[in-house]
Amino acid sequence: MKITFSCKISLCSRLSSIKNYPRVPSRLAIRRSVRMCQAFNNTFCGATVDETLSKPVDTESRVVVVTSGKGGVGKTTTTANLGMSIARLGYRVALIDADIGLRNLDLLLGLENRVLYTAMDIVEGQCRLDQALIRDKRWKNLALLAISKNRQKYNVTRKNMQNLIDSVKELGFHFILIDCPAGIDVGFINAISPAQEAIVVTTPEITAIRDADRVAGLLEANDIYNVKLLVNRVRPDMIQKNDMMSVRDVQEMLGIPLLGAIPEDTNVIISTNRGEPLVLNKKLTLSGIAFENAARRLIGKQDYFIDLNTPYKGMFQKVQEFFLGND
Ligand code: ADP
Ligand code: MG
Repeated sequence: MKITFSCKISLCSRLSSIKNYPRVPSRLAIRRSVRMCQAFNNTFCGATVDETLSKPVDTESRVVVVTSGKGGVGKTTTTANLGMSIARLGYRVALIDADIGLRNLDLLLGLENRVLYTAMDIVEGQCRLDQALIRDKRWKNLALLAISKNRQKYNVTRKNMQNLIDSVKELGFHFILIDCPAGIDVGFINAISPAQEAIVVTTPEITAIRDADRVAGLLEANDIYNVKLLVNRVRPDMIQKNDMMSVRDVQEMLGIPLLGAIPEDTNVIISTNRGEPLVLNKKLTLSGIAFENAARRLIGKQDYFIDLNTPYKGMFQKVQEFFLGND
């Protein structure tokens, strides 16, 4: 008990020792929280399942940027899995890989061999949008557009990006998810500029949280108030030992409504290497279910969170427990 308490103290004191990062949410974070909750409620509350599903193709697309500040926290993994889940729910989804020079959304989706043209080719007049937009063969209502080829020099401007997203919108996609590059420089600004909504991805680590806080401020400064939080690589075992911040702690610190919490899972790495998003696995893992739940919440279909402490049980196990008990 004593050890647990001291661990908690040391985590908290580390956090408060970061410059401008109080343990208690700042007034700015509270104000942001209130504004973002209002935007979140305005968008999702009252939207019934049927309303969203029957959304006609000619209504305005929802343009959502997936961002984080820090690299390697799971933006691309989130974009691929949320995109695939939403497409499986019947929506038309376009995924835009705005990570210039370090493109890898195509790899996660297993579409790397089909990227012949990119948005840069469209801007330079080398091809049409429909030639650069790759349709996924598994789910025809999912498409991918890469902004540039790897190692290509970046010269897409903010205006180019806006025009590009406007053209994609005209094709009648319900959702356009933009995979944002790491950092907060020109690539980040270009990627967020066409978006009306954002998903901030973070891991429960102080470095990632501080970057997420900075990014949340920048989103607000760029008039993006509809922001949701996705906490990735959560380790319930470490949280129980007070070696990791809980999802609730992270959410309260950032003052952003929670979209989802994804557990740390080696299956994520396996699925990346196979080019098959986790949510396509026949035998869903806890992280796959967590991504599916986050996708359902994004479309306003579900408002509860799965318990990361409960291991996922297959149908066989559930039936077995029903007859034999679960001891
Ligand atoms: P980013 O796009 O933010 O740079 P990625 O999505 O490429 O991050 O993920 C970085 C690495 O972390 C990848 O190797 C990925 O497989 C791994 N990863 C992401 N999420 C998880 C998770 N929940 N569990 C285990 N590994 C993960
Ligand atoms: Mg990435």
